[in-house]
Amino acid sequence: MADLPDFLASATIAFVSMEIAVEPEMKCYSGGLGVLAGDFARAAADLGLPMVFVTLASRDGYVRQSIDSQGNQRGESDPWDPADWTTPLEPIVDLSIEGRAVAVRGWFRQIEGAGGASVAVLLLDTDLPQNRPEDRALTGRLYGGDARYRLRQEAVLGIATPRLLARLGVAVRRWHLNEGHAALLPLELVHGGASVEAVRQATVFTTHTPVAAGRDRFDWALTQAVLDPDHLGTLQQVMPEADELDMTKLALRLSCYANAVSKRHRDTARALYPGARIRSVTNGVHAGRWTAPAMAALFDASVPGWRVDSSRLAGIAQLDPAHICKAHASARATLIAEVAARTGIALDPERPILCYARRMTGYKRPTLPIESPDRLRAIAGRYPLTLLFAGKAHPDDPEGQAAIARIGAFAKTCSSDLTIAFIADYGLDLAATLVAGADIWLNLPVPPLEASGTSGMKAALNGGLNVSTPDGWWLEGGREGVNGWTVGRPDSDPREHGGLLLQLLDDQVLPCWYGDGPRWQRMMRDAVASIGAAFGADRAMRDYARDAYRLGEDRPGIGRQAAIGP
Ligand SMILES: *Cc1c(COP(=O)(O)O)cnc(C)c1O
Repeated sequence: MADLPDFLASATIAFVSMEIAVEPEMKCYSGGLGVLAGDFARAAADLGLPMVFVTLASRDGYVRQSIDSQGNQRGESDPWDPADWTTPLEPIVDLSIEGRAVAVRGWFRQIEGAGGASVAVLLLDTDLPQNRPEDRALTGRLYGGDARYRLRQEAVLGIATPRLLARLGVAVRRWHLNEGHAALLPLELVHGGASVEAVRQATVFTTHTPVAAGRDRFDWALTQAVLDPDHLGTLQQVMPEADELDMTKLALRLSCYANAVSKRHRDTARALYPGARIRSVTNGVHAGRWTAPAMAALFDASVPGWRVDSSRLAGIAQLDPAHICKAHASARATLIAEVAARTGIALDPERPILCYARRMTGYKRPTLPIESPDRLRAIAGRYPLTLLFAGKAHPDDPEGQAAIARIGAFAKTCSSDLTIAFIADYGLDLAATLVAGADIWLNLPVPPLEASGTSGMKAALNGGLNVSTPDGWWLEGGREGVNGWTVGRPDSDPREHGGLLLQLLDDQVLPCWYGDGPRWQRMMRDAVASIGAAFGADRAMRDYARDAYRLGEDRPGIGRQAAIGP
């Protein structure tokens, strides 16, 4: 293509992910994994890394959430049109799925970095007239459908990505698989004629799942039905012992660098995959994206350069905390107005706003704060408080759905001292408002099930204080009583966390809010300085660039060879 922009034509690192959150209106994301990928794309653009980011178009989105009068989630599809946000690319590539040729086209969007460099995001789309209706729907619903639908989607992601980039003339030297969903990609490279060793040298794999049950696996009969015989043969050659398609094991087998997303998760992953050399790159968030305007203006004035190098935020520790507090007050007012607009509930601005917002699912324990209603009400009698909830449950997750209903039912019983609200349709927009305006950010997973977590980093950037169980990134970032508080100790029984959380709120957090304003303000400032400086997406991308993307003695342009084949 003559008019392929230079930053795309010259990309040498491809980051491949089932979801990427680019803009709120581009519904090709569901949550943490996609938001992380979107933050990485922005950081890569800021740093001028020669990267291209590839995902599925997901034309039907993930879930559009509304809450019915009974407090239950109604999750519908959330359609969007790539034509409104991206530019179509000319070449069409084919792959074989269930014996049929499926045509795939790419859509392109530019992300411009703070320093003027750009990266490309490509969306793969099978909604083409030459495809049969069921194949047209493959890049429809994100994480929708059954195992067969999922495997066919992952075939599109893994097999069409290198074919499309090769057709575009993009000579990729590093393939970064963001989670196992893209593990068919290196298989496709082997199938295209590269040696297993050359493919391994070119492939980087990040695992995000700390439990065996959570990983992507497909039984052999399904795998045989979906993949074409050539890929199946290559799979058997690469994994001769396999009696199923385990995407994590395949990705580990065909990569030379594998990492977990926090130090704690690295230890968990090593135990899950003995023999695999697994390192850690702790996740980070894009500071410029997640800092509210008033706070960003303060950073611009006091620590210039923070947008590209978030370690500069360490300098915030020198500021008078009142500045942070003032900037946070503006984001807090925005949050209070947003809650009023969305729910009709008028929050009392004098009370601390505690926020729990993330995917609603069992291990994250959204209902932990309301487990002992009487005790919570008694605490609120002493220290009036506001508790906000937001988050979507996967349509096939009854536990997550039940949590939403329980929070809704509890909210109806709240007293004058205790305001509880569930705000529907958590996504990029609502997340930005919540992380910026919250006083306390709750993170309550059962350790070690939260590989990293990132929303608490966003809150800290805005002066929010974390209250977290000892898991994921918080084990690296948390400083007790300095930038937040930890529920229990690393060896506490998770079944005691509910009681420990309320005790912590009652003994330390709320007395500090109501009785020691100067200390609270210092903690807000120190949260920005310590967490903001250490958990930037730029830091994570520098880690990847230095360790994972470093070129060794591999042959260049391995992606081109993938185009040779049937
Ligand atoms: C940051 C973010 C997440 C991830 O939150 P966790 O704390 O990692 O669970 C999920 N969804 C949205 C919309 C986000 O912005």
